[in-house]
Amino acid sequence: MNRKEPKQTILIVDDIPTNIKVLGDTLKKEFTVRFATDGLKALEIAQSSSPPDIILLDIMMPGMDGYEVCRRLKASEQTQHIPVIFITALSQEEDETKGLELGAVDYITKPFSLPIVKIRVKTHLELKRHRDMLERLSMLDPLTGIPNRRRFDEIFELEWKRAERDATFLALIMIDIDFFKNFNDQYEHQSGDECLIQVAQTLVHSVHRPGDCLARYGGEEFACILPGTDIQGALRVAENMREEIEGLQIPHDRSPVSPYVTISLGAASILPARMNWPEKLLTGADHALYQAKGEGRNRVKIVDINLGAVFDSP
Ligand code: GH3
Ligand code: MG
Ligand code: MG
Repeated sequence: MNRKEPKQTILIVDDIPTNIKVLGDTLKKEFTVRFATDGLKALEIAQSSSPPDIILLDIMMPGMDGYEVCRRLKASEQTQHIPVIFITALSQEEDETKGLELGAVDYITKPFSLPIVKIRVKTHLELKRHRDMLERLSMLDPLTGIPNRRRFDEIFELEWKRAERDATFLALIMIDIDFFKNFNDQYEHQSGDECLIQVAQTLVHSVHRPGDCLARYGGEEFACILPGTDIQGALRVAENMREEIEGLQIPHDRSPVSPYVTISLGAASILPARMNWPEKLLTGADHALYQAKGEGRNRVKIVDINLGAVFDSP
């Protein structure tokens, strides 16, 4: 186990506090242990912003039983990947079959051996850690280390729904490096890669608010999602990005518009409502970027989506 990684969290669910204590005392040396004495509380913790890495779940509890808790966990996209181990006095074959069919990764009957429970829990936590790592890697662009297109699509959908719910603006900036093909031809591919890394890092650091996302959208194209941001706000961020990249002063002898590497940007903002849909925002920002290219590059254009018109940045 990598010592630098944070401790994984175990949620123990049992209506009898003594049972929780026995398990908790053994596990808390290596893991963060949380507990719940009823099903509803367990679901609440699982659905929170810091969910557990594994759930040890009793079956017989007053109110909602463990089977139902497991069913609900597995029915929700948010919680279905949290491994569940039933720890229960129900020892009939059909009980265990039912538990495993509901999606539990393991089924342990009481009375149990503490050392064996501990080993089984550790095995599943290792698998969970591995899965989490793969999940994280699959969301990152390997060259620049920033979120990739796949992650962008996910966040875009999520933020769209959130903005629709909260009736707030959602802004999008599309960014493209100017004459990057010439740059590669002039300085070779490896310098091109280094340039992409530098541009990506600079762009990432030019957005600060929680929820802001800067992703690599394609080859030398980036996209930035800004929740709760109107077009004026998006314009400020975009113009700042343009200045930052120009300010890097990366030499570009074969750019007709500047001695340095520059970017063109298209920004749009929208109130996601019933009359609007995500493609409208994407197309709007894309259209503005196209205009920025057409009108000389190294500039920001914004689009008023409702009017369908593209405007100059002041
Ligand atoms: P424009 O100003 O119109 O955007 O022109 P451009 O040359 O930047 O655009 P074009 O789409 O014609 O070329 C993009 C180039 O970006 C093609 C390729 O050489 C380069 N590129 C794309 N992905 C990578 C990459 O991962 N590494 C490197 N080094 N170059 C890349
Ligand atoms: Mg380009
Ligand atoms: Mg391009």
